[in-house]
Amino acid sequence: MALGEFDLIARYFTREPRRAAVGVGDDCALLAPSPGMQLATSVDMLVEGRHFLPTAPPERIGHKALAVNLSDLAACGAKPLAFTLALALPRIDEAFLAGFSRGLFALADEHGCELIGGDTTQGPLNICIGVFGEVPPGEALLRGGARPGDDLYVSGTVGDARLALEVFRGSVAVGADAFEQVRRAMEVPQPRVALGLALRGVATSAIDVSDGLLGDLSHVLRRSRVGATVQVDAVPRSAVLAGQAPAMQRVCTLAGGDDYELLFTAPPERASAVADAARRSGLAVARIGRIEADSGLRLIDAAGQAVDNDFGSFDHFRL
Ligand code: ADP
Ligand code: MG
Repeated sequence: MALGEFDLIARYFTREPRRAAVGVGDDCALLAPSPGMQLATSVDMLVEGRHFLPTAPPERIGHKALAVNLSDLAACGAKPLAFTLALALPRIDEAFLAGFSRGLFALADEHGCELIGGDTTQGPLNICIGVFGEVPPGEALLRGGARPGDDLYVSGTVGDARLALEVFRGSVAVGADAFEQVRRAMEVPQPRVALGLALRGVATSAIDVSDGLLGDLSHVLRRSRVGATVQVDAVPRSAVLAGQAPAMQRVCTLAGGDDYELLFTAPPERASAVADAARRSGLAVARIGRIEADSGLRLIDAAGQAVDNDFGSFDHFRL
């Protein structure tokens, strides 16, 4: 007997509710944040060919679909609680479903985030996840809080996911080990949830780097009505990326996208609190620039020379 819609949901996506009062199986799930907390919610859709390659292992697709959503909670300093999963599947492929659900639940369990419901239909492969988190009122990290004089920081390293894409496209060649490393960055991004939580009360603004560092920074600048100078050579990158041609390094670090690191601001007098948040979350953070009252974005290199900003950011309707 071929598996039907409801067998599929029961087999791959139903577990005992933990925190939720009602999980998968009813018309609505019931979920309450801790008393006094605000609910933080976000949704992201992943489309085959656009957000992941058809060659990506199913386990990694499951991981990434949830990771990009947890990254939005991280950027707001929200603690993950639960998520929903809307899936369009071209056919019932049990090998895909088993791998996908394994990758999805492994990351979900790591962050104590439970699947509470969803929708399943037939159609071109499309994965839409909605997440729910909680944050104390007034403590969410938002895009609009950057102030002139604030330092600008980014966590981890950026650019490897874009380098992997360039290798897939055939425009760059790297060795086998280097390829495995950058491919992991693209297919298995780690949402910086612990850092986001540690930055509550420290960062004045935050965003996760999903569409390219400069493009995402421009959202912060616009919402905060400020400008910035970025020292482009200070943007942290992996040893693999640092071995590439300088122009490729700039494109990957400044306009790469799919990094899911946190880009955030904090006043200089909170520098030791930032270092402490980084230490507690086991991540490096680098200071890459400064927020200024003058609007616009200025780029300089390590020698202090101006660098042209011709780095576009990802836009689904302007390719
Ligand atoms: P409804 O008729 O109310 O839309 P469905 O028949 O679509 O409900 O789904 C039945 C139950 O299974 C619901 O509780 C729904 O939330 C859940 N569900 C459906 N698809 C998924 C999925 N991919 N992951 C988790 N839960 C799902
Ligand atoms: Mg439904």
